[in-house]
Amino acid sequence: MSDPAARDPFAARFPLPPGATIGILGGGQLGRMSALAAARLGYRCHIYSPEPDGPGMQVAAAATVAPYEDAEALQEFADAVEVVTFEFENVPAAALAALEPLVPCRPGVAVLRVCQDRLQEKTFLERAGVPVAPWRAVHDEAGLAAAIAEIGLPAVLKTTRLGYDGHGQAVLRRPEEAAPAFARLAPKPLILEAFVPFAAELSAIAARTADGAEAVYDAVENRHRDHILDLSFAPARLPSEVAERARRHAAAVAAALDLVGVLALELFLLPDGRLLGNEIAPRPHNSGHWTMDGCAASQFEQHIRAVAGLPLAAAGRHHDVVMRNLVGPEGIARWPALLRAPGVVPHLYGKAEARPGRKLGHANKLLPRGALARLDDSEALSGL
Ligand code: AMP
Repeated sequence: MSDPAARDPFAARFPLPPGATIGILGGGQLGRMSALAAARLGYRCHIYSPEPDGPGMQVAAAATVAPYEDAEALQEFADAVEVVTFEFENVPAAALAALEPLVPCRPGVAVLRVCQDRLQEKTFLERAGVPVAPWRAVHDEAGLAAAIAEIGLPAVLKTTRLGYDGHGQAVLRRPEEAAPAFARLAPKPLILEAFVPFAAELSAIAARTADGAEAVYDAVENRHRDHILDLSFAPARLPSEVAERARRHAAAVAAALDLVGVLALELFLLPDGRLLGNEIAPRPHNSGHWTMDGCAASQFEQHIRAVAGLPLAAAGRHHDVVMRNLVGPEGIARWPALLRAPGVVPHLYGKAEARPGRKLGHANKLLPRGALARLDDSEALSGL
């Protein structure tokens, strides 16, 4: 019989007792909402971020403002917390690798590495049984020409690392667009993906504990504006077989990663009903913010439960929800009306500056369970 303590030298720490401190790498809104959920479960959070006064630090019991490369600050952080998690996947893997021998890290650096690199991510998705669009690694201009010859156009050229919200990518529609796109994105490592003529973009969020228990939320439909998530419709208005497949894919990826925490799997729905995996976010995700008001336990609570070694809550949905992001000055201008709108729950992140393109908050419009399927878009969005 395998001895759990031999597999995990930190196993005796869990479940964390009330009052224990959870360390979070990253100071943005996802850390903020995780810290608020942790507080409800009786925990304190200690945020580590190079930026002072971010959305997370404003609600945390303790903070370290230091670069991710500061070995001494990382050591002190490890000593001050019982467990470490991260709130976004662009935290340098080296920081998590430095912490891992000192303190339990959930998820660990192996998960972070897979999700930081689109080549590893694609390979991983395929191995987990999630189909993906045809893709090729691109090392140089000749390699790009060869990849275009194999995959065809249109296609999407992306940096393999540190891409988000459409940054670091170019859609290639004609052969002559290849050289300028390569010049703009190189010398970073690149990937060429077939352009997916999707009918809709979906995501599914799965939570998983160290002993393999899972809770998977309903799949949602996501709509973007200027490459930034604008709306999520929960649940996605899809045949139940497709929605279930999306959820099964998310659970399969969480299990294959041996994830402890929450992940979002972003998927493309093709007109013929096929689903293709696009990206894995190994953390609470913007497309899961609807769970804060549509479910008894939000994605943030599930994340904290998993990280703290508590049992997961059920992921059932008690309301249908339409989530709208409040982005930039235009988004914040909606705030007074949202406060007055019946059935709308607004959330703000405490960011002082309303710069264009910045996510400042979101609002969840609650509808009776089952109502969304009967509404057209303008009805679903009224008041939001
Ligand atoms: P990503 O950074 O990979 O999540 O891409 C951002 C957005 O670009 C996605 O949400 C899609 O709207 C679009 N996109 C990315 N990859 C593709 C693709 N292969 N085909 C069509 N659209 C894509």
